[in-house]
Amino acid sequence: MDIRTHTCGELTKKFVGKKVKLCGWIDSVRQQGKIGFLILRDRYGVTQCFVGKELSDKLADLRKDSVVQVLGIVNERPKNQVKKELSTGEIEIKSEEINVLTLADPLPLDENATEDTRLKYRYIDLRKKELQDAIRKRHEAVLFMRDFLDKKGFYEITTPILTKSSPEGARDFLVPSRLHLGKFYALPQSPQQYKQLLMLAGFDKYFQIAPCFRDEDARADRSPGEFYQLDMEMSFVTQEEILKLTEELFVNLIKKVFPEKKITEVPFPRLSYSEVMKQYKTDKPDLRKNKKDSNELAFAWIVDFPLFEEEMENGHYAPMHHMFTMPKESDLKLLDKEPGKVKSYQHDLVLNGLEVGGGSIRIHDSKIQEKIFDLIGFTKEHKKYFNHMLEAFRYGAPPHGGIAPGIDRVLMAIMGTKSIRDVIAFPKNKEARDVMMGAPSEVLPGQLDDLNIELKKKK
Ligand code: ASP
Repeated sequence: MDIRTHTCGELTKKFVGKKVKLCGWIDSVRQQGKIGFLILRDRYGVTQCFVGKELSDKLADLRKDSVVQVLGIVNERPKNQVKKELSTGEIEIKSEEINVLTLADPLPLDENATEDTRLKYRYIDLRKKELQDAIRKRHEAVLFMRDFLDKKGFYEITTPILTKSSPEGARDFLVPSRLHLGKFYALPQSPQQYKQLLMLAGFDKYFQIAPCFRDEDARADRSPGEFYQLDMEMSFVTQEEILKLTEELFVNLIKKVFPEKKITEVPFPRLSYSEVMKQYKTDKPDLRKNKKDSNELAFAWIVDFPLFEEEMENGHYAPMHHMFTMPKESDLKLLDKEPGKVKSYQHDLVLNGLEVGGGSIRIHDSKIQEKIFDLIGFTKEHKKYFNHMLEAFRYGAPPHGGIAPGIDRVLMAIMGTKSIRDVIAFPKNKEARDVMMGAPSEVLPGQLDDLNIELKKKK
């Protein structure tokens, strides 16, 4: 026997007279003398169940969010009680049997709960309509991305989570190795090197819904610790083709998944880095015409970035994007004399004042790559971390490039949520803690022994 025959969002007038079995959480109970109503809720909607005299003593101990099974007959509601805004607003169930599947304690959350309390009980907070909607939209958006890229000939390929630390970008999360005591894996800050190596391997077009890990502090538009990118890479591709494809993806994604949103300008305006810095004093300008309109989406491409940030005091240079970004061919000759003037094939995607993605055409020549390492000031020691890349480029490397829009970030911008946490099922709090699971946490002494790790006395 099935546990349920229908969901709480499914029953309409055409089911009148049918015997059904529904399951769900108790959204509310209303008692009116000897009779009562019970509103049952699940992911699909809510259904009103009428409870007559014979069952009404059951209602007394049914606390909110208890999970119950209701058996009954679908009845048409009287005209004056029809609720047009509900998919099930034309009917109600005349309950014949109510089975409590689990009784809920009084909920530890109400509208006044602090964010940490809500995160601690995230599985309860996630029952809210706004969050249910956001998570559904995220699913639809990711499904769209997969489908779109599949149709364009991309392979989805997963890359390792346990990988190697390298002196670049943000701080790495380290994972101690038990089999190789004293050595560490690192969690990937992005699959950058792997995706380039996939191009060398001949896969031509790659994407991945890639988890990325960076040991950075939280910001309003950044979830601390981890986030997801729509990571893409293509071979024999121009910057123009990367921008066009990304633009086609987002224009169509928004049409399909967020039809109420309007993109202000298609094709997305393109601005050079120097132009945008002069005009807006930022490289992520907010180009919305009416910031009060929550349905307005103003995308922009920023291109022609300098290859390096300003020269550092020690005479070295930090890459503006990352060290695999290709200098413009016409500027290659400047690499020796005036590296600060070299422009690159970096492209950033900006949406409503947020940087929602970045990428570039990559270096595919080991000599240029080594030159960049020298300018960054890599010692022999540093270069060793990237030997496999330099070596790989010597065995047949196609020109290639890509981009990686941040999934959490772009969905936050499209949906206009206040916090990036609103588009993530189980986000960390602002201090990078998972207050629901209690992570990070201490571990058992035996676990540290296995790893040959001894903790210093607390300072
Ligand atoms: N891996 C880069 C990043 O995380 C994106 C890219 O160049 O494709 O910013």
